[in-house]
Formats: sequence, C-alpha cells, structure tokens
Amino acid sequence: MSDDTLILDADDTLWENNVYYEDVRDAFAERMAREGFDRAAAVAMVDAVELERVPRVGYAPQEFVRSIGIAYERLCERHGLLPRAEVAAEVEAIARRVLDHPIVLLTGVAETLPALRRRFRLILLTKGDLAVQQSKVARSGLASFFHAVEVVPEKGPDVLRALVGRYGLDPQRTWMVGNSPRSDVNPALAAGLGAVYIPHPVPWDFEQTPIAAPERVIELARFSDLLHHFPGLEAQ
Ligand SMILES: [Mg+2]
Repeated sequence: MSDDTLILDADDTLWENNVYYEDVRDAFAERMAREGFDRAAAVAMVDAVELERVPRVGYAPQEFVRSIGIAYERLCERHGLLPRAEVAAEVEAIARRVLDHPIVLLTGVAETLPALRRRFRLILLTKGDLAVQQSKVARSGLASFFHAVEVVPEKGPDVLRALVGRYGLDPQRTWMVGNSPRSDVNPALAAGLGAVYIPHPVPWDFEQTPIAAPERVIELARFSDLLHHFPGLEAQ
C-alpha cells in the first residue's frame, strides 16, 4: 500500500450536508415571520443557540432539532409572549427534515475516488454522532474506498496526531482534505500535515474561521481537482 495518505472529511466534502440545515433555517424563519417575528432575527437566534449548545451537546441532528425548538421559545420570551404548542409542533416538524435527508454525493466524488484509491491510502474522518455518521457512510456507498472510517465527536490537531500514530502515517506524505477551515484545515496545519481546502458553496458559518497559514494550504475549487493537483493520477 502507498505511504501517501489522504484523510478525507465527509460532510460537505464528499456529500451534501449543510444545505439541508440551511433549508430548515429558511423554513423556520418563514414560519417565524408568520408569527410576526423578524426573519433575520429568527435566523440569528438559531445561530446563537447553536453557538451556545454545540460545544456542549455536539453535532447530532437531533440536537439541531432541539436547538430550533429553543430558538422559537427564546423569540417568544424576547417579545414577552408564551410559546404556542401548535407552533412548537410545526417548528419541530420543520426541523426534523434534517433527520432523514438523502445522501447526495458532490459532483465528481464518485468518479474521483477510484483514482485516488490507486495512489493513496484513504482514511475517512468525520465528526458528529457515531450512529448518524456511520449510517451516512453506509448509505453513501463509498465505504469500500476507505482503508478506515473514523467518527469522532470533534476534530482537532490531537485527533489527527492520534491517526498518524495509529496508522503509522508519515506527516510529510499525509494530507487532510476538507471544506472546513475550523475543523479540517487548521487542525491539519497544527498537526504538521498537509492541508487541502475545498470550500463548499453553502458553508456553515460555525465552521468559518481564518486559515492559520494560507501559504501552506492547497485550495481547490472542486473535489475532482485533486486529480490535477497530485501528479501521476490523471494518466492512470
Ligand atoms: Mg465538512
């Protein structure tokens, strides 16, 4: 097996994820507007509740559903109103759309992974709820491309250093590939690995943070550009 390794993020790198959450935010804001609340304030409340809760409860979609419910309660509270049970039920139904969305691969992923696997050892690294993320990997149909699949509650330099140790990786020949400056790029830089940043057109604000050392980062427009960046792949 090759000594060159790509550690691949999954959500919004291999498949769509945040768009489903943005759809729920929009639908929630729309529903709140019908209650007389300002749309932008409703979205800002969701963001505030998430910022407060995610570090404590993690990334499970069930927790996002709860955060949307809390956002409704807090909007009511702010305006001196009592939450209404029928509205709370509608809000929950809107939020629950994130629980059963399909797995839609991003453009070029299915075509690119076979070529990458011939050249690299591929490790999938995704953060979130164990059962939820494992289910997404299974439904993606991509599991067989990976030497290993790792699900962690949160990503950081220590997680990457642990992978380096567990799989005997050479940091000089290992790249973390992902869409998130906060969870993929900066941890890779801190751990002394290569970093490949593939921004998603609909990013989650929570994941956006300045990149620590942009001059060390390979930024690509799309997943299939990995074939052009690493020599020797296109000819295979
Ligand atoms: Mg991601």
